[in-house]
Amino acid sequence: MRTIRALQSFNRVLVCTCPQPPSVRSWSVAQDKRFSSSSAERPIPGNSVLRHLTSKIKSTGPISVAEYMREVLTNPVTGYYVQNDMLGPDGDFITSPEISQIFGELLGIWCLSEWMGAGKPSHLQLVEFGPGRGSLISDVLRVFSQLSGALGGATVSVHLVEVSPKLSQIQAQCLSGDQSRVSASEDEPVYRQGTTAAGLPISWYRNLDDVPRGFSVYLAHEFFDALPIHKFQRTEKGWREVMVDVDPEEPDKLRFVIVPAPTLASTQLIQSDEKRQHVEVCPEGGVIVQRLANRIAGDGGAALIADYGHDGTKTDTFRGFKGHKLHDVLASPGSADLTADVDFSYLRKMAGAMVACMGPVSQRSFLKNMGIDTRLQVLLRNCADPSTRAQLIHGYDMLTNPAKMGERFQFFTMLNHIRLTGPEPKQPELGAKMAPVPRKAPAPLPVAGFSELGLS
Ligand code: SAH
Repeated sequence: MRTIRALQSFNRVLVCTCPQPPSVRSWSVAQDKRFSSSSAERPIPGNSVLRHLTSKIKSTGPISVAEYMREVLTNPVTGYYVQNDMLGPDGDFITSPEISQIFGELLGIWCLSEWMGAGKPSHLQLVEFGPGRGSLISDVLRVFSQLSGALGGATVSVHLVEVSPKLSQIQAQCLSGDQSRVSASEDEPVYRQGTTAAGLPISWYRNLDDVPRGFSVYLAHEFFDALPIHKFQRTEKGWREVMVDVDPEEPDKLRFVIVPAPTLASTQLIQSDEKRQHVEVCPEGGVIVQRLANRIAGDGGAALIADYGHDGTKTDTFRGFKGHKLHDVLASPGSADLTADVDFSYLRKMAGAMVACMGPVSQRSFLKNMGIDTRLQVLLRNCADPSTRAQLIHGYDMLTNPAKMGERFQFFTMLNHIRLTGPEPKQPELGAKMAPVPRKAPAPLPVAGFSELGLS
């Protein structure tokens, strides 16, 4: 199979590994953490985010958890993502692409495999949401360089959707050195542009809507979990929204409250067949998925969404991370990451019938199906340095061990329907005397990662 041959030739190449970071934010999560704010931590004196939020709440009343998250994470001036480089050993959490180069390499193979499965269109847009430090797309692009022969004459461009000017700068440095320039006006939809080390055009956007249409492979790793969620509690009177209020007894402290009357969100966002007692809904994630589905159906392509998540079973997953430890979500807002598990059943519903969805499958299954064991063995065979070998093995364990990231992280894909069914057989032209004997179309390639590729 073409994909397998591409991977086999790729496996002959040894590339350097990244340094080993210490811990992962998904490890130490208490599953039964109540949604109330319970930490004894005092707010930082002079915390401007807290001051802004308390004065807003005092003047207009409690705010939704979604508004709280949006203010804390992506406020254009004070937002946690806007201000910080939070990834890595010195930050607040660490992600799979930062742990092992193998992760991004296998996702690179996946992109290539989907491009092949779609019949090798002449131009491929690689689009990544929330690229962090740029490590994932950098590993993907290295695979593309090493397997450039497989691309034939197809051209590739890179498109990054990133809200953080600070992180976009780090991404630009990683991917294009000083070969990028920032747009003159703040209103430009493309706010940074350049060329990658391999000479590919690369652009930065704040929104998916600004990314050009065309055949694209979309990647989103630990992006959807950062989008704002609404929280709802089932009560005797029906569903009620959980909101953020100022604690009347401690005016510099925030607390959760259940609002007595229905809100627009509580009437609109709960599914009629909902069985849970407490639900988190991420409408922004739903809108992005709908737009992706629309693009994939119209232009061809595929999206791969990887995150910690569940299939419509979990309830209260909203949590904070600071310095690789759990952090009270309402304490010192802006000083810690806020995150909630992705509800893949909701994303599937939002995608609707426009695209074919597969997954979620566990990270362990996905990476094993992608041939992570073979890739590890190849890298080890070509590596004599004991500390690099130990890093490779440790990274593999972190990514695949069910007790670490192997089961908590899930992979989900949206594909153009033709990808699974193959193109429609050509109808005989009107007026043709004899219908041509239809040639049997080749069976579509299996979708890598979601079924075993049978690598040895
Ligand atoms: N994908 C990376 C980083 C994950 S952290 C990795 O796995 O290492 C989340 C990323 O999403 C950051 O780059 C953050 O700045 C970006 N982000 C968060 N909210 C966003 C939004 N609303 N729009 C665009 N990017 C966002």
